[in-house]
Amino acid sequence: MARQFFVGGNFKMNGTIESIKEIIHRLNDSKYDPNTEVVIAPPALYLLLCREHLKKGIEVAAQNVFDKPNGAFTGEISVSQLKDSNITWTLLGHSERRVILQETDAFVAAKTKAALDGGIGVILCCGETLEQREANKTLDVVTAQLSAVAKEVKDWSKIVVAYEPVWAIGTGKVATTEQAQEVHAAIRNWMSKEVSSDAAEKTRIIYGGSVSEKNCRDLAKEKDIDGFLVGGASLKPAFVDILNAKA
Ligand code: PGA
Repeated sequence: MARQFFVGGNFKMNGTIESIKEIIHRLNDSKYDPNTEVVIAPPALYLLLCREHLKKGIEVAAQNVFDKPNGAFTGEISVSQLKDSNITWTLLGHSERRVILQETDAFVAAKTKAALDGGIGVILCCGETLEQREANKTLDVVTAQLSAVAKEVKDWSKIVVAYEPVWAIGTGKVATTEQAQEVHAAIRNWMSKEVSSDAAEKTRIIYGGSVSEKNCRDLAKEKDIDGFLVGGASLKPAFVDILNAKA
C-alpha cells in the first residue's frame, strides 16, 4: 500500500495576523500536488484564523496540547477544545519543547494518548542531538522516545512520525538523504517489531530539519521518507515547491 505523502508546516512562534493571512491566501491560491496531505501548525492564537480561512483539504494542527480534560490548567489547551475548533491534528514532542520546556518522553506519550483518545491526529516528533549522534546513540534516543509512546498507544493509524535530528533544525544543515533514510528505515524496522508489521507498513515517517525547496526532491526519493515537517521554509513562498516534492 502506498503511503500518502504528508507535508506539515510548523510556524513555531512566528507570524502576525497579517503575515499569516498572506500565507493562507498563497496556499489557497497555489496549485500543488493533490496527492499531498497538507497540515499547517500556526501558534495557538492563530489556529482559528487559519481554520476559518484555509481552504477545505488543508488541515490545521496545534503545536501542543495538554493531556488532561478541561479544568484548572492555566495556559493550556485541551484536546476537546481543539476538536470543538475543528483542529484535527497536533504536533507533539518537538525538540524545542523537549529541550527548552523540558518535556519528558513519558509526558509526550501521555499527551499523545490523550490526543488520539480524543480523536486528534498526532505528528509525533523524535530525534537526536549532535552530541548523541556523535556518540552513536541516534537509534537508542529515537527508539526510547517512540517506545514511551508504544507503551501507551496500540493503534498508530492516526500518528505520523516526524524524524527531526536536533542538529538539523533551523541550522541550514540538512541530514543527507542517506542519513535520513537510514534512520527512517530503522524506525520502520523498530515499529514492525514493537508495534505491528501493519503499523510499520502504513505509518508515514516524515523528515524535518532544514527542509527547503532545494533539498526536498532528493529526500522525497528515498523509500522510507513519506513527507516533511517544515519550519522556516513553511513561512515562505517556497513552501509550495516543497508540497510538490513528490510530483
Ligand atoms: P526547520 O524546522 O525546517 O526550520 O529546520 C523544522 C522543525 O523544527 O519542525
